[in-house]
Amino acid sequence: MFKLRCIECNEVNDEKNYTCRCGGLLEVVYDLESIEIDFKLDGNLSGVWKYRSLLPVKIEPVTLKEGSTPLYKAERISKIVGAKVYVKHEGLNPSGSFKDRGMTVGVTKAIEFGKSAVVCASTGNTSASMAMYAAKAGIKAYVLLPAGKVALGKLVQALMHGAKVVGIRGNFDDALKVVKKVCEVADMYLLNSINPYRLEGQKTIAYEISEFLVPSRVFVPIGNAGNISAIYKGFYEFKELDLIDSIPRMVGVQAEKAAPIYKAFLEKKMEIEPIKNPETVATAIRIGNPANAKKALKAIYSSKGCVEVVSDDEIIDAQKLLAKEGIGVEPASAASVAGLIKLAEKGEIEKDEEIVCIATGNLLKDPEIVLKICGEPEIVEPSVEAVLSTIKNLK
Ligand SMILES: [Zn+2]
Repeated sequence: MFKLRCIECNEVNDEKNYTCRCGGLLEVVYDLESIEIDFKLDGNLSGVWKYRSLLPVKIEPVTLKEGSTPLYKAERISKIVGAKVYVKHEGLNPSGSFKDRGMTVGVTKAIEFGKSAVVCASTGNTSASMAMYAAKAGIKAYVLLPAGKVALGKLVQALMHGAKVVGIRGNFDDALKVVKKVCEVADMYLLNSINPYRLEGQKTIAYEISEFLVPSRVFVPIGNAGNISAIYKGFYEFKELDLIDSIPRMVGVQAEKAAPIYKAFLEKKMEIEPIKNPETVATAIRIGNPANAKKALKAIYSSKGCVEVVSDDEIIDAQKLLAKEGIGVEPASAASVAGLIKLAEKGEIEKDEEIVCIATGNLLKDPEIVLKICGEPEIVEPSVEAVLSTIKNLK
């Protein structure tokens, strides 16, 4: 039905491996010709497991009804860039981010492999999602976070859903390095996005978009770079299955001071040079050494896509713009729209192109940044005069 193959040396690996003995990333590969597709692309979304025939699990899934997120037409953004722009709001998943699509598959595999504990390093969203699915499955969850650098909304989710949370004096890249070693000595199942099964769930973003259209381009914020790889894989598989006619150009967007993939792209390389101290207001993509860089670059080159960088100010402007469309997202999510606007300003977006931007996480994930941007509300006496005069003076 499927096998785990190394993207570097092509060796078929044991299905319990995270990475190949050569160090390469693993990819789930199907014998697509032998798979019987039992779903229709009819615009009826029923979540990740609608596409079970293309997911690598053998047991009943651990699910919280993830997926089926709305694809909104973004009228204002469309006007600004002169194209038809849609936003796939992944912030409306159960834990408020796209990670749930991967976790439903990842935690199911943990159960399938007989594991009673899962672990991850996280900038926040992965830990929140893993904690929820581990709770649902009744297994233990351990989380390593970069201390003081995780948005409040994400931390409280991990805590409330019962994960054991440890802060690391260091950044995400340091935490990921440690957690990989922890898994070598402790009997825990690693659920970072180097786990090839996580990306299998995330590819259903592409499947769901295909229910309605095949855009010319898809804009994706790049953090650890798993999601853009997964979305490309989803379109690629549907094309192989003749369910769609073309594969969109994949556009990755990084934050200016956390942009090793952008640099590799400019130099037309497959290898990145890690960035030591990545910085950005968009904590979810504050990653200097993206674990899935090679898969992401492969997706970008194969689809004739590109990588763009955006500043923190551009990210916040795009976050506000999305809010005006009624779409509440955390800063990292807005990077996709900020990247689109930047490409449009360079004259690279053609009129009447159909474009999808992926919004990866919910506004409530990072409430502190909102108070910094918008300020706290003014407090007045409970009288009509005080309220009216205050409202008049509000911007
Ligand atoms: Zn290998």
